[in-house]
Amino acid sequence: MAASWELDRQITHLVNRILREVSSSGAVKRADGRRLRREIRQVLERDYSASLRNSLEPGDVNRLVATASAIWPNFNRSPMGPPSMRLFAEVSELLSLHLSSAPYRHRGGFAVRGFYLRKTPPALGKPLIYVNSAHHPLAVGTAFCHEVGHHLSAGMFCPGGEQPAARLYLGAECAARLDDRVELAADIIVSLAGYPKPMARQIFAGPVQHGLMPDLAVPSGKVFEAVQQHLRARYGFDLAAVLVPDRKLHYLTGMLHYARLREALLAEYDV
Ligand SMILES: [Zn+2]
Repeated sequence: MAASWELDRQITHLVNRILREVSSSGAVKRADGRRLRREIRQVLERDYSASLRNSLEPGDVNRLVATASAIWPNFNRSPMGPPSMRLFAEVSELLSLHLSSAPYRHRGGFAVRGFYLRKTPPALGKPLIYVNSAHHPLAVGTAFCHEVGHHLSAGMFCPGGEQPAARLYLGAECAARLDDRVELAADIIVSLAGYPKPMARQIFAGPVQHGLMPDLAVPSGKVFEAVQQHLRARYGFDLAAVLVPDRKLHYLTGMLHYARLREALLAEYDV
């Protein structure tokens, strides 16, 4: 699949530039750089439409949209946010969730973005979401939304109310989540919240219909630019302003993953 990687000149250029920035400082170990690069390559090469079809039953996506829309009437219609702890607290209150947030940086702790616990000790009495607040607000918002996605979709995959295995949400490892319907459902909520349908149409349903990756090969790189502009304008996120190189690569991976997922949801299900 080297050919499609070769197509993504703009992203390849960006990844290489980020890695070059740190080659002298040693901030990204060689092995970590390779792993991050591999993750981005996987996100670029995967067939997201096929992943959706393989992992989910027909109707699952519409059920997810209906569940989220029942809580937020503007879900998938207009952008949520901007991301803030106040907004997360309001949503948690609405959903009867216990929200815990704290900055967690030690010993690679930056990699941990959040988790969801459906069954908690009686003293707490309600499901819990933790988010690592050491990250950029959009990254915290992405983690929060992913964990809310688990909460909303729990009934779809655990009808008996049993506890789905609690998994740490790590910013990277996006491609692996495509093969896990529980994780994919949570990521779908993130993509739809981040790119409501009217905006998704503007960004992804342009004249070039061959998907995000081939389109990135055109000189203007319109789709990737539109994604970056959308994240800047709506969520105050500027990749160029992220100064820590490995975090920048993590965020880039997430950007590409959620954008490609959104594009596939529009193409496959017209949501
Ligand atoms: Zn998850």
